[in-house]
Amino acid sequence: MKEITAAEFESEVINGGKVVLDFYSSECPPCEALAPKFDGLSKLYDEDIKFLKIFRQNNRELANSLNVMSSPTLLFYDNKMEVANRLSGGIKRSEIIYNLDSMIPESKAKAIKAQIKPSISEYETLILGAGPAGLTAGLYLCQAKVNTCLIDVALPGGQVTNTHQVSNYPGFIEPQPGYMLSHNMSEQTKLCGTIYKVAVDVTKVDLDEKKVIIDEFETIQAKKIVIATGTSPNLTGAKGEIELKGQGISYCATCDAKYFVDLEVVVIGGGNSAVEETEFISRFASKITMVHQFDKLTANKQAIDKLLTNPKVSVIYENEPRKFEKIDGKMQIEIENLKTNERNTLISDGVFIFIGMKPNTALFGDKLKVDNWGYIVTDEDMKTNIPDIYAVGDITAKKYRQITTAVADGTIAAIAIAKELN
Ligand SMILES: Cc1cc2nc3c(=O)[nH]c(=O)nc-3n(C[C@H](O)[C@H](O)[C@H](O)COP(=O)(O)OP(=O)(O)OC[C@H]3O[C@@H](n4cnc5c(N)ncnc54)[C@H](O)[C@@H]3O)c2cc1C
Repeated sequence: MKEITAAEFESEVINGGKVVLDFYSSECPPCEALAPKFDGLSKLYDEDIKFLKIFRQNNRELANSLNVMSSPTLLFYDNKMEVANRLSGGIKRSEIIYNLDSMIPESKAKAIKAQIKPSISEYETLILGAGPAGLTAGLYLCQAKVNTCLIDVALPGGQVTNTHQVSNYPGFIEPQPGYMLSHNMSEQTKLCGTIYKVAVDVTKVDLDEKKVIIDEFETIQAKKIVIATGTSPNLTGAKGEIELKGQGISYCATCDAKYFVDLEVVVIGGGNSAVEETEFISRFASKITMVHQFDKLTANKQAIDKLLTNPKVSVIYENEPRKFEKIDGKMQIEIENLKTNERNTLISDGVFIFIGMKPNTALFGDKLKVDNWGYIVTDEDMKTNIPDIYAVGDITAKKYRQITTAVADGTIAAIAIAKELN
């Protein structure tokens, strides 16, 4: 692997044959997460593909001319041409491998895979999920000198990263942008010394053996496992929803509302999240039509009263979506009246769906005790029914799911684990 400057771009990249180029920055957590993956892959593929790094802050002009807008960004070149999709943000090892393999013959790609040696590492505690619950558990365990590894399929921060503003986390007088709060939590835990393995694929989880395999080849063994994998948005189940996810359908107002300035939007849902997020979207969109299955909104009264005086917002009650389509760049949403079964089509520029959340337990098999809604049941030390397996945060069966309750769970589990390990 070699570090280059803009002056060498022509010779090393354009005339360099098969190349992968990493635009990185300093003080960039996703760049730090990428570095060991990039380094490891360079050793496997270096006979066929040149691995180069370039420091974006010192080579801004080149970055701008190539339209590189974030760090890290990986660009792939083959014989003077940019090939494959650019990768940026929380880049997974599997995504890089997919691009690299597309640049070499299939037989060569297979031979390289055959060289990968599985690795095993051992920790006292392994945490799955780096949202507020997992990060807090990581912080307390680290401060108690418990050797801990924190694994996340995405970058650290959890749902808070995508929350526009947090006004109810104690210790801050002014509302905090969610991404700042989660960044600070993550840096505090990392600086303490907890080992991070983030933006990875979690291939397999064996709770009985207390073993987790990531990126297919790396096994992490621990004495205790803390499950902190949180929740994901529910889907409506309407036709076309999965195909149009990210192509007109969004589940995150903080991430996507800004793309709807003076445009028309349909929001599906009418609970607390839907009402709060619609209020936020109305800062950008010119018109918002909410579609709700009940005959009134089911959020807190103050929020509903505020929303219903918003001139940009109207609500269609007792309807559910049945089909999503994109025709000539416009979203067509077929809705059904639950009383009359009459169907109508709404046309908008985008759709946001906020109809509740479901627990992320798919990888854990059926031995964990869960409640009727699939949330993990714990005791007061956050222990599950499986020995040495703990669960914390939104994934657990409880009444209130907030950042403060998630960090409280993480604290309790970590103190209990530290005591037991002693
Ligand atoms: C739109 C919105 C606004 C909100 N606003 C507020 C607010 O203002 N104040 C407040 O207190 N709360 C708010 N909440 C709730 C708050 O965000 C959650 O209660 C809190 O984030 C829960 O923390 P957690 O760590 O349990 O889970 P999460 O934050 O969901 O984090 C779970 C982590 O686990 C990772 N993960 C998932 N599956 C796996 C796997 N198989 N392996 C490894 N990692 C995995 C995810 O990538 C994620 O990083 C809001 C929630 C939403 C959706």
